[in-house]
Amino acid sequence: MSEKTVLITGGAGFIGSHLCRRMLNEGNRVICLDNFFTGRESNISELRKNPKFSVINHDVELPYSFYADEIFNLACPASPPHYQRNPVSTYKTSIFGAIHALDLANKWNAKVFQASTSEVYGDPLVHPQPETYWGHVNTIGIRSCYDEGKRGAETLFMDYHRQFNTRIKIVRIFNTYGPMMNKNDGRVVSNFIVQALRGEDITIYGNGQQTRSFCYVDDLVEGFCRLMNTGDDITGPVNLGNPGEFTMLELAEKVLRLTGSKSKLVFKDLPQDDPKQRKPDITKAGEVLGWQPRIPLEEGLKHTIEYFKKEI
Ligand code: NAD
Ligand code: UDP
Repeated sequence: MSEKTVLITGGAGFIGSHLCRRMLNEGNRVICLDNFFTGRESNISELRKNPKFSVINHDVELPYSFYADEIFNLACPASPPHYQRNPVSTYKTSIFGAIHALDLANKWNAKVFQASTSEVYGDPLVHPQPETYWGHVNTIGIRSCYDEGKRGAETLFMDYHRQFNTRIKIVRIFNTYGPMMNKNDGRVVSNFIVQALRGEDITIYGNGQQTRSFCYVDDLVEGFCRLMNTGDDITGPVNLGNPGEFTMLELAEKVLRLTGSKSKLVFKDLPQDDPKQRKPDITKAGEVLGWQPRIPLEEGLKHTIEYFKKEI
């Protein structure tokens, strides 16, 4: 396989650090571009030993210029408490980040990949969600900076493709978890595991009957690579996620059982606009990429629990 130069924005984050490792393992040069808003040096410190790996501290709200054959645009805080910390910056990160990645791709005729999200479906009225569903999204709520930023980024990707023939790839990622998540990330899998391991109360938001579908990070990264390796006629969007659907109470029960924790459940207010249900229709990923997730939730949780035992 010939060596490529791969630029990964958000490369010091949870998913980005797995993608950096995968790209280095395939023999590529990797440029990790990150402003460390939620990313961490510890996610990439091991990778720094590889001479083909370089790290640039930069905010994608501002333009940047490096040679790249492929650009993966992952820069954006993904956890609700973090993307709501500076909502204006979250929105700018999505929109300007998309424009800067697309402009760079045009300069080198590179492939450019957008990490979009199941949040483009909002609080969905169609279940499970296929790519053809346009979504049910509040434009003015506390999640809108993220949801509408990601929707705007998809629009830019498609318009660059139609107007300039830019070589784009869009994935819509459904809730993904695994090692390298930050213990202070604030999303449900890391919260429950950290709380269970520390013997703290497990915080259920609302009545815990809302559902999510959880994909293990290795499965997701495999899907990224398959999509990036398709021909230019395949642009996406393609859903990537694990269709196994669980309530938050079911997730809490699994985490308590797998950790052997005696933590108690406590019920907190449900945040505004929290989607009631979410499950990917992955028919397209199967047909176009021959992809399906391999790692069931309990197996993925065991790997993630082992990681957090060392982290905390
Ligand atoms: P993360 O917060 O761990 O990683 C995001 C990375 O982007 C961090 O390293 C952060 O420092 C960096 N970043 C944020 N703003 C930046 C900016 N302005 N300039 C440069 N770097 C910036 O989150 P993650 O879970 O690894 O998510 C990665 C991508 O995948 C995000 O785009 C996210 O929206 C998308 N996604 C993730 C999930 C999921 O379940 N993990 C689901 C849907 C979409
Ligand atoms: N959630 C919860 N307890 C927590 C964190 C999250 O019950 O400590 C709920 C949250 O309200 C949502 C679901 O778990 O219904 C998934 O939340 P997360 O922030 O992981 O992702 P998203 O809502 O963006 O899918």
